[in-house]
Amino acid sequence: MSTIQENLLNVQDLILKFANQSHRKVEDIKLLAVSKTKPVEKIIEAYAAGQRRFGESYAKEAELKIKEIRSMGYKDITWHFIGPIQSNKTKIIAECFDIVESLDRIKIAKRLNEQRPANLPPLDILIQVNISSEPQKSGCTFDEIDEIASYVRSAANLRLIGLMGVAENTTESSEITAQFARLQQKFESMKSNDENISELSLGMTGDMAEAIACGSTEIRIGTAIFGAREYPDKTKIPAVDTTYAG
Ligand SMILES: *Cc1c(COP(=O)(O)O)cnc(C)c1O
Repeated sequence: MSTIQENLLNVQDLILKFANQSHRKVEDIKLLAVSKTKPVEKIIEAYAAGQRRFGESYAKEAELKIKEIRSMGYKDITWHFIGPIQSNKTKIIAECFDIVESLDRIKIAKRLNEQRPANLPPLDILIQVNISSEPQKSGCTFDEIDEIASYVRSAANLRLIGLMGVAENTTESSEITAQFARLQQKFESMKSNDENISELSLGMTGDMAEAIACGSTEIRIGTAIFGAREYPDKTKIPAVDTTYAG
């Protein structure tokens, strides 16, 4: 079995390869290591190999791991929340995370703004858009982006920096590209009017190539770094959201 360090090197090689194919600079594509369901030791192993950005999807699980890792003295990790957000979890998220990539409604933005501790910098926000239009997936519609964006821009403790999307889980590459390209177009138009907009979070283990070709500035990789996810307690799997599939 390969180590996390080897897996990270392999993923970085792939990013370089796809960046070259798309005539993009590799420095413009960040790697988010998605550590949901993975224990603290695995995160520390990735940290030791140089990884500093981590993504988590379940607020309670993440809170425990982040507090433990911070108490061990690791303070230069950037924590990204990428899962569906329930109202009763916004306080944990506002207190523990640096970036939220899965904001998809104003109600949640209001709570995050109110609950962001005053001693912390504004919470960086990406709006998640349901680019595959699958009913079970998180994310707002394309029509809703502007209204959510203007609320976030008006909130003192939030800072809008970009957009996030999850493509359909399909082997049809052209379908994935079409979904990514539509969000890229919206990203480019927002970016031209707002200097804070810099992040387009697209791509997972199965669709990195398409994402990088469509201008992704951050790919979110779990399986290719940490191996397949195991869910020991099946009751913790959200019944309706398949964001973690793949
Ligand atoms: C779990 C998850 C990922 C990582 O998926 P892999 O296929 O394991 O790379 C990426 N993005 C989101 C939103 C996720 O929930």
